[in-house]
Amino acid sequence: MLPKPLKNLPYGRQEITDTDVESVLRVLQSDFITQGPVVERFESGIAAYCEAKHALAVNSATSALHLACLALDVGPGDLVWTSPNTFVASANCARLCGADVDFVDVDPQTYNLCAEKLEEKLARASASGAALPKVVIPVHFAGQSCDMKSIKCLADRYGFHIIEDASHAIGGRYLDAPIGNCAYSDISVLSFHPVKIITTGEGGMALSNQTHLYERMKLLRTHGVKKLVASSVESEEPWRYEQSVLGLNYRLTDIQAALGLSQLKRLDDYVARRHELAERYNRQLSAISLTLPHQFSDSYSALHLYPVLVNDPSGSGTARRQLYHSMIAQGIGVNVHYIPVHSQPYYQELGHRVGDYPNAESYYARTLTLPLFGSMSDEEQDRVVEALYECLEMRKAA
Ligand SMILES: *Cc1c(COP(=O)(O)O)cnc(C)c1O
Repeated sequence: MLPKPLKNLPYGRQEITDTDVESVLRVLQSDFITQGPVVERFESGIAAYCEAKHALAVNSATSALHLACLALDVGPGDLVWTSPNTFVASANCARLCGADVDFVDVDPQTYNLCAEKLEEKLARASASGAALPKVVIPVHFAGQSCDMKSIKCLADRYGFHIIEDASHAIGGRYLDAPIGNCAYSDISVLSFHPVKIITTGEGGMALSNQTHLYERMKLLRTHGVKKLVASSVESEEPWRYEQSVLGLNYRLTDIQAALGLSQLKRLDDYVARRHELAERYNRQLSAISLTLPHQFSDSYSALHLYPVLVNDPSGSGTARRQLYHSMIAQGIGVNVHYIPVHSQPYYQELGHRVGDYPNAESYYARTLTLPLFGSMSDEEQDRVVEALYECLEMRKAA
C-alpha cells in the first residue's frame, strides 16, 4: 500500500500497513474479540521493550492514569501535582479520584515540569506546614524525558509517589534506558492514540515494577471482580466470581492489541524517522527567527511533537495566531500544544489563576506545533518549510 500524498498535511498521523490489517483481520476471525491472548502478548511485548516488570493494557492512557492514581490510593483530601503544559487528562485523573490538583511550572528550555521549581514549591509547602503532594505526575512533553533523577531524589526526601505520563514518549530513552522502565517512578503510562508514536486506535498501558500496584490496577480494570480459582471455592460452583473492590471496565480488545503488536515492530523505525525529520527541520529552519526545540544529551526523545516558538516581542500571542492561520490557509495542519491546564474554565472554577505559571503561559502564547509523524515524506516536510518561509516573509512585508 503506497501512502497517498496528503492534500492537507496533519500535524500527526497514524500509518496502517497491509500487515497491520492482516493482524487485525486474524483476530476478527478468531474466538476472542475483547480482551484475550493477544492483549497478553501485547502486554509482554511492551513490558519487554520498555524493560519494565509488568505492563497492563487498557482502553486509553486516560484510563491508565486513573487506575494508576487509584492504585496509589489517591482520594479525597490528597494532593496531586503535575505540569500545566500537558493534556487535561494528566490532571483530571486526580480529580476523578476526588483529590486536589496543583501545578509546577515548566522549564523554559524543555517545557517539561521543572525539577528546580518542584524543589522550591516543596520547600515552601514544607516550611509553611502546607500539604505536600501524595503523587507527582511529570509529563515527558513532546517525547523528551523530564529530569527524573532529580524528581526521584525529591520523592525520596518528601515522600511522594511518581506516575510518569509517558504518553508522548514510547520509543524514547533516558540515561541510556527505555522510557517506561519505571526506574525513577512507581508507574509509567503510555498512550496509543493515533497521533502518538504507535497506535491501537484508542488504547493505553500502565507499566510498573511493583507487583502489588500491577495487581491492584489489574483488578480495577475489570470491575474489581476476580474469577475464583476452582480449587479455592466449592468446585460445584465453577461460575463463581467475586467483587472485592469498586472497579471499572477499562479493558483493551484483542482487535486493538493486534494492531498495537504489529505496530510495535516498527516503533524504532518510526522514532528514527522522526529524528531524521527533526534534524531536517533544525537545518532548514535555522535561518528563520523561530526558537527550535532543544534536545538534552541525556535523553533520546521519541519526538512526538516538534514545537517551535514564534517571535512575539509584544507578548500578546498575535504573532503565533497569525502564523497559525496563514499555515492552515496553505493546507499545513499546524497545531498548538498545550493550552495551560490551569487556565481551563474547569480549573479556574477550582481557584487556579492565570499568571501563576508564567513559563507555561509565555510558552503557550508563542508555540506552534509543526507536522511530524513517522510516515511523513521529505516532500511533505519541504511543503511545511516552504509555507513557513512564505508566511513569515508575508508577515515581514505587511
Ligand atoms: C494523549 C495524552 C493523554 C491521553 O491519552 P489517551 O490515550 O487519548 O487517553 C494523556 N496525557 C498526555 C500528555 C497525552 O498527550
